[in-house]
Amino acid sequence: MSTLSIRCRICDGMSLHPFLDLGKMPIANSFLTHAQLSEPEYTFRLRCGFCVSCRMVQLMEVVEPDMLFHGNYAYFSSISQVMDEHFSELSTIIGEEILYDASLPIVEIGANDGILLQKLVSHNANAIGIEPSANVAAAARDKGLNVISEFFNVELAGTLRAEHGPAQLVVGANVLCHIPDLNGVARALEALLDEEGVFVFEDPYWLEIMAQLAYDQIYDEHVYYFSVSSLKRLFEKHGLRIFRVDPIAVHGGSMRVYGCKVACSRREEPSVRSQLTLENEHGLDSLDTYSAFAARVEQSRDSLRDLLGSLQGEGARLVGYAASSKGTVILNYCGIGPDLLEFVCDNTPSKEGLFTPGTHIPVVSIDRFAADYPDYAFLLAWNHLNEISIKEHVFREHGGRFITHIPMARII
Ligand SMILES: [Zn+2]
Repeated sequence: MSTLSIRCRICDGMSLHPFLDLGKMPIANSFLTHAQLSEPEYTFRLRCGFCVSCRMVQLMEVVEPDMLFHGNYAYFSSISQVMDEHFSELSTIIGEEILYDASLPIVEIGANDGILLQKLVSHNANAIGIEPSANVAAAARDKGLNVISEFFNVELAGTLRAEHGPAQLVVGANVLCHIPDLNGVARALEALLDEEGVFVFEDPYWLEIMAQLAYDQIYDEHVYYFSVSSLKRLFEKHGLRIFRVDPIAVHGGSMRVYGCKVACSRREEPSVRSQLTLENEHGLDSLDTYSAFAARVEQSRDSLRDLLGSLQGEGARLVGYAASSKGTVILNYCGIGPDLLEFVCDNTPSKEGLFTPGTHIPVVSIDRFAADYPDYAFLLAWNHLNEISIKEHVFREHGGRFITHIPMARII
């Protein structure tokens, strides 16, 4: 079900130091039916470690991918308008700055329901998606996209290359950090890419997580928390290199990393060196930096419990807003259950009528929220604050207020 490692999963060394313990945690996306509430719930210990040798931040205990990316995976990218705009921008950059040969295929890893792949097809008809979760892959196929339901590894890379030729682009959005065997992915990239081919990955960025105290980015699906310095070391072991990095705003702060084979003609851009310098200035090579982060996470938890508790003491009605994976981490780590939050509302129809993992708060529709506005809505998707705030202007006009826990709990 899960594997605990005391060795670093990247360099296999013994320099992996646990620094943050978020406690016993259910699978973040495993929302429960009413019948499941009386059954035992699977949990694991959510702990983060830092490898002093290769600098990779990683989970100590990793849940088997089959338990996470199954036939009933609950996250559909296309639901978010913000993500749609984000992928349009990425697709434009790819079309204008990356693609160079219409005869060579492009491959997207973790294609989800095809939100990006659909846009990439306009640049190159030979666009192939890889998506292990059967139900979201089926949604992509319904749009006429070519999607394979497998995990990306060196065998699949060899098959794709034999059938379609070397790839001019391999792209993945919020997927690399999910894959336990990153050495295997790097080998597969090396095997699949054309000599001038490019890979582009965007994932949550560790420096940003630390800066914002966004500990809710840490959950079962994210095995790794990347810095440019840790990814650089990983890729260089496999004949690959990073030539450009772009900080981006999605998922509360991510990094888009562009790479290629070592011998590729693309030059390293100044963004790589300046980001590495910034990481060193923030002490990303020092274990003390990580311990200090963990202490601040505890303070954030205490501030949230104090705020919710005092508002409840004043007789206020409190609910949660957005049944997200991040929310599962916050609610479980901070010990917030149905005694504090009346319900959690969400606009995903498949989550209505379910209960939050571990904490068992009922999930209701946004209509229910609007039918009887509470006094406070605790945002369980703080990274979508602007989008939600605009959408819920009527709630605010009725005197309702949002609460966020980032970086410390406050009413906004
Ligand atoms: Zn290591």
